[in-house]
Amino acid sequence: MEKKQFQAESKRLMEMMVNSIYSHKEIFLRELISNASDAIDKIYYKALADDSLTFNKDSYYIKVVPDKENRTLTLIDTGIGMTKEELESNLGTIARSGSLAFKSENEVKNGHDIIGQFGVGFYSAFMVADQVTVISRALGSEEAYRWESEGTDGYTIAPCEKETVGTEIILKIKDNTEEEQYGDYLEEYRLKSIIKKYSDFIRYPIKMEVTSS
Ligand code: ADP
Ligand code: MG
Repeated sequence: MEKKQFQAESKRLMEMMVNSIYSHKEIFLRELISNASDAIDKIYYKALADDSLTFNKDSYYIKVVPDKENRTLTLIDTGIGMTKEELESNLGTIARSGSLAFKSENEVKNGHDIIGQFGVGFYSAFMVADQVTVISRALGSEEAYRWESEGTDGYTIAPCEKETVGTEIILKIKDNTEEEQYGDYLEEYRLKSIIKKYSDFIRYPIKMEVTSS
């Protein structure tokens, strides 16, 4: 499959994330949950404006699924999803995120600043994962796409199957012995405490599904 390259600025941010020595990597979960919540907001506002769409609050949620056996952490949302083009433009370029746009060249060199003060967004996943897969189906589309990247050397996009509208993000969690003293990102109690710490204000239910132990 053809590997597409990240836009130069994204690549720079990505390099920073992949090699991050930042001590609060746990904020990746805040970033992904806030994106999921934004995506649900978008479908919610669409439903308000469009009589043919009904917003049933119960069918909108965020799910966090740790799988220790496979060392994956999956985030599922029932938000608006992304088309193939949106996967490319939203996850392949930094323009959308805007986090970097606020920062001067010097500040960009000091990764700690950005990570601490601004949301670094989607790419923060690469602080904890060595492979990120995004499976998404956009509202109004029958097609779904899989975006996949192992970091700075680019990403692939291919059609795939997805029954429902929304997005699924699968993180292959890095082996990291430093994390062991706190319990790593596949431990239910660790995830719960991170969610409580950063995502308490999220308006949609955050469910946890434990697949194996
Ligand atoms: P920001 O949230 O500041 O825009 P991010 O890097 O966190 O920047 O995300 C980039 C973009 O990718 C978002 O603006 C959104 O368009 C898209 N995106 C990310 N996650 C999701 C998701 N779960 N569902 C739909 N779109 C998403
Ligand atoms: Mg974001």
